Amino acid sequence: MSAGSSLDRFAELFASLRQGHAAGRLAHAYLVVGAPRGNALALSEALLQLLFCAGEPRPCGECAECRRVRERAHPDILWIEPESKSRRIKIERIREELIPRLSQGSYGGGWKAGVLIQADRLTGEAANAFLKMLEEPPPSSLILLLTDSPQELLPTIVSRCHRLLLSAEPAARTEPWYASLLDILRSDAPSDPLQALGRVARMKALLESVRAAAESEAPPAAAGEAEPEEDVEDARVRTRVLEARAGIVRCLMEWRRDALLLVLGLEPGDLHFPEEADALRRQAAGLDYARALRRFRAVETLHRQLERNIPDELAFEHLWLEG
Ligand SMILES: [Zn+2]
Repeated sequence: MSAGSSLDRFAELFASLRQGHAAGRLAHAYLVVGAPRGNALALSEALLQLLFCAGEPRPCGECAECRRVRERAHPDILWIEPESKSRRIKIERIREELIPRLSQGSYGGGWKAGVLIQADRLTGEAANAFLKMLEEPPPSSLILLLTDSPQELLPTIVSRCHRLLLSAEPAARTEPWYASLLDILRSDAPSDPLQALGRVARMKALLESVRAAAESEAPPAAAGEAEPEEDVEDARVRTRVLEARAGIVRCLMEWRRDALLLVLGLEPGDLHFPEEADALRRQAAGLDYARALRRFRAVETLHRQLERNIPDELAFEHLWLEG
């Protein structure tokens, strides 16, 4: 998608946050997509320093406030990370810490902030409690969700956050299956069962071609070496197919998320597939919000079904026959 190094991306995003801050137009919640302990954390710290810095020029990086941000010792910032044992963020942390903290006044009389590192690790309960707060964010509060797996978050959470994309989008566009998938997506309007079955058949053919490609790219055994063991080879092909399938499901999810955003009247600038805005707009025109949301959620169901090893064809059949 966008050219330039990730450093440029960082600078670009920070410049726009600085502008937003100067104009008093920061969002209530940001989804920072990048490494939750790398660039996403760095951008979040920079934004928090911008808010709290007492020096010049903001953020100076050196004053006591900036230092407290960096050391996670600032009284107006709550940092939440997954528990080390369960690797989840549980509801208690949201209900008993985050919500009260953001709802009460700040110590410094200004902003208060909550930072969720690896927000994709929220449990379902925690995510729902969090969502309720996000629907009516307390005044002067800022929420930062850091993740490298935004597709794991509730779409209703994602749609309420302003996205800051540090990571390159998954490189689906360079995959051999991408063009065929795009053809299928362009026809992803609600339709009669016959058309839906046609789409299922095309998806089946696509997955078969992925498998055939994986089988044909088997590394030939070097001279003198035995052929790779059969089960090793099977595992390699299976991994390749699963990777491709995950990429395909992600594209589907992004496509339907784009349609949902258009139904909500959002700008095409925020789309995953800006170059497909026309096709997406045509599909969005035939949907209302409830249906667009249901179609989006159906991809999550598809994702879960595939993870539970429900046969691909059956899972895709559910997806398309229901909407
Ligand atoms: Zn400072």
